[in-house]
Amino acid sequence: MSNDSTNEESAEAETAEASDFLRDQIRADLAAGTYGGRVKTRFPPEPNGYLHIGHAMSICLNFGLAQEFGGECNLRFDDTNPEAESEEFVRAIVEDVEWLGFESSDTIYYASDYFDQMYSWAEDLINKGLAYVDDLDSETMSEMRGGFTTPGQNSPFRERSIEENLDLFRRMKAGEFADGERVLRAKIDMNHENMQMRDPVMYRIRNTPHHRTGDTWAIYPNYDWAHGQEDAIEGVTHSICTLEFDNNRELYDWYQNNIDLPFEKPNQYEFARLNLTHIVTSKRKLAQLVADGVVNGWDDAAMPTIRGVRRRGYPASAIRAFCSHIGVAKTNSVREIELLESFVRDELNATALRRSGVLRPLKVVIDNYPEGQVEMLTAANHPNDESLGVRDVPFTREIYIEREDFEEDPPPKYYRLTVGREVRLRYGYFITATDVVKDAEGNVVEVRATYDPETSGGQAPDGRKVKSTIHWVSASEAVDATVVLYDRLFTDEHPGSGDTDPLDSLNADAKEVLEGAKLEPSMAKIAAGEVVQFERLGYFAHDLDQPMLFHRTVGLRDEWARLQKRKK
Ligand code: ATP
Ligand code: MG
Repeated sequence: MSNDSTNEESAEAETAEASDFLRDQIRADLAAGTYGGRVKTRFPPEPNGYLHIGHAMSICLNFGLAQEFGGECNLRFDDTNPEAESEEFVRAIVEDVEWLGFESSDTIYYASDYFDQMYSWAEDLINKGLAYVDDLDSETMSEMRGGFTTPGQNSPFRERSIEENLDLFRRMKAGEFADGERVLRAKIDMNHENMQMRDPVMYRIRNTPHHRTGDTWAIYPNYDWAHGQEDAIEGVTHSICTLEFDNNRELYDWYQNNIDLPFEKPNQYEFARLNLTHIVTSKRKLAQLVADGVVNGWDDAAMPTIRGVRRRGYPASAIRAFCSHIGVAKTNSVREIELLESFVRDELNATALRRSGVLRPLKVVIDNYPEGQVEMLTAANHPNDESLGVRDVPFTREIYIEREDFEEDPPPKYYRLTVGREVRLRYGYFITATDVVKDAEGNVVEVRATYDPETSGGQAPDGRKVKSTIHWVSASEAVDATVVLYDRLFTDEHPGSGDTDPLDSLNADAKEVLEGAKLEPSMAKIAAGEVVQFERLGYFAHDLDQPMLFHRTVGLRDEWARLQKRKK
């Protein structure tokens, strides 16, 4: 696990010129004039699911590098698998990238727009004797590839004539064959030490309509044949992918070295993917959570998808700051989810309006306060930012406080309300609890209290002190809300580590829904998606669709700092 610096240190690092193997490479290419001064990256999602927080890192990296070096980043859909892909995912991905704060050039790019060009390059390879149609079934083909210690064997179809190959390939394209009947393979070396180079498949037959090209194609390019050529067509200079594609680089280069490129040849660079504790960043596993009904869709606020964290209240700027802080590495590691949360908390601490909300209400009746009176108290919207102004908070005879802020039999060091004790109400008066009302089971259902009218500013004229300040809302003026609290989605720090299924450690109590929350009346005007701080409780995001539904974004306590301390 990498040793992390604090957020303050990161802010410092960002002002200095960032340096890592990718930036160093780009600077070297610029200095050498490799691409005539151009810098072009791309973010190439397959539209077969929604983006997750791992993708956010790739987006920040690719778009960020382009911004930093005055280049361009293309949003390109790698839509070469018609079975799994759809327009729905395309739209969602475009939206998520924009929400993260990045805009690609006006054009959105699609691999499917290049099918003609790729096809024509494939014929070029056939004409050069560098590709052939193979009739072997996939099982035999994979057996004949050999292994790391055993050589591969040439296919009996490897020495077909150029004419025969062209004829068969054209008929594959024309839809004359069934799925899987033939493939086009690159003719490289069946004894190559890099398994990727043992005559890889370039095209497979799939008689499946594509969401953009319809029935035009009966053959679709495989990843390696498609990806590098997409980069080449767009004039990408630095093609950045995750480490598991390390072995594919040689093939990436081989293809490009054997076709006529419209621009200078791009280069592939690999970086370590982002992994976070207590979540999974695998589209397949996330899709399973949706299919199993564990969550209410990809945009559930418990999901580590971009739409999920957005609904949860994570600011896009905090995600960008986090990605920039962790930077790019050459070795895989797992980052603590608490670190990401600390970026979210820091950002919200600076920007979120302060509000009062009581999640588990207990009524307090102030017997010496006039019945029916509504007194407006003034409260700052933010403790350190006067520009955010103030709001009125109504005070009345009956108020709600948090159930846990009253104890009938207080344990030692409990300084909040109990009968006979005086506490301060945030922004308001001192009150003293005098009695309790209980239900048939003996539970406290109401607290009786008195207030001191001399303490309206939160201070006693005689200088007496109280040991705690608690939050509250007016019972008659409050608005009702539903609040959802979140715990870790997976109890395991590393879900799926070893041979386990990540879903085995799914946290059944990841969500706690509180139906009866009471919020100060100004909360009725909070915009969809806005995040506020409920004082003493944390940050809460107003749901994007459902009014008066709030998601706890993060708590107030800096879990990251606590973790770091524990490690020392
Ligand atoms: P998954 O494994 O979840 O299906 P994927 O890599 O197959 O993800 P793509 O749509 O191909 O999904 O991903 C688009 C881009 O995002 C790729 O360039 C990939 O390298 C990058 N990416 C995906 N996951 C991560 C991650 N966890 N960290 C960094 N980059 C990622
Ligand atoms: Mg992929």
